[in-house]
Order: sequence, then structure tokens, then C-alpha cells
Amino acid sequence: MDIEEVGGSLWVHLLNTRRIKDGKTIDVLEDLDRMSDWLTFYQIEMSADKEEQRKSLLILRDILIRLVDNFSTNAPLPELNEFLQSKPTYWNIDLQEGQLVRSMKAVNPAYNGLITIIQDFFDTIDTFDLQRVRQCAHGECILYFLDSSKGGRRRWCDMEKCGNKHKASKHYQKVKAKRGARDENQ
Ligand SMILES: [Zn+2]
Repeated sequence: MDIEEVGGSLWVHLLNTRRIKDGKTIDVLEDLDRMSDWLTFYQIEMSADKEEQRKSLLILRDILIRLVDNFSTNAPLPELNEFLQSKPTYWNIDLQEGQLVRSMKAVNPAYNGLITIIQDFFDTIDTFDLQRVRQCAHGECILYFLDSSKGGRRRWCDMEKCGNKHKASKHYQKVKAKRGARDENQ
């Protein structure tokens, strides 16, 4: 099980449950075992009804991807609000090591893991410009990341994985082009 840790925030990790590896799309939410590993990895509460949890994560992922992709033109807010309304929540207070801690819980405990991710999304929109959630510029990478760079011009999900690969292929194309030109001259 290889889990993509690129992203920078829990809800962005949800977007990145879909990715491309060796030219093929891998989807963590495609099967329940993979989803369970993913939930465990990020310490997200697992529901007894895994299939329902999988379905709700798929819907949320789809809405959030469209929201990020069309933020300024066609954000799917009615759908997001409808989705939120269908998962009622309440505030819960716990005592942890002598401190009162508040958290949001789902009325239907099957959605507690989902609410953790939504809460993380809320934290992001409170503190971060959503237009700086970007998709990697590499042609064969669909990962999203929070661009918290100073100039706001980060292009790669990861410099090692995609930035250097891109530079290497650009270099290769240049070498090829030069070689091609040489061959034509012969
Ligand atoms: Zn990438």
C-alpha cells in the first residue's frame, strides 16, 4: 500500500486518493480494503458501514475537486450545501488530560470520519486562499497541493517527484531536438 502524502492538508489528501502511477489512474476509494488502509494511515474514524463511508467520501471528493477547479467561475456550492445538510452535526465536549476539548460530531456516527475531513476543509477556508489550492503542472500528475510558497507560484506537487522529472524530460527533449537537427544536416 503506497499512500500519497503530498497535499498539505487532510481534505487535500482526500483529493489525492486519485493519482496516476506508471500511466494508470489509481483510486484508493475503489475498494474497501484500500480505503481502510488510507483511513488508518490518516487516523480518520472508520465507520461500521464501510460501503456508506466510501460512497460519502466519493461524493465529497467529487464536489471538492469541482470546487477547487472552478472556484471563481462555477463553484458547486448548492451541491456542497445540500451534502452538508444531509449530514447533520453537533458540537461535542470531551475532557482530555484535564482540558475541555470541543469537536464536531455527526448525528449519524457513520459520518464521523467524513466530518473530520470537512472540519479540516473549514479550517483551510478560514485561513487560506482557496485559489492557491493547485493541481500539479506535470502532464502526468493529477495531485493537488496547498501553495503556501511566498510568491504563490509553486507548480509542482513535489519538486523531487514532478519538478525534477519535468526538468529532466525538458532537457531530454532539447537534447533530442539538437540531435535531430544534427541528423538532418548530415
Ligand atoms: Zn506532481
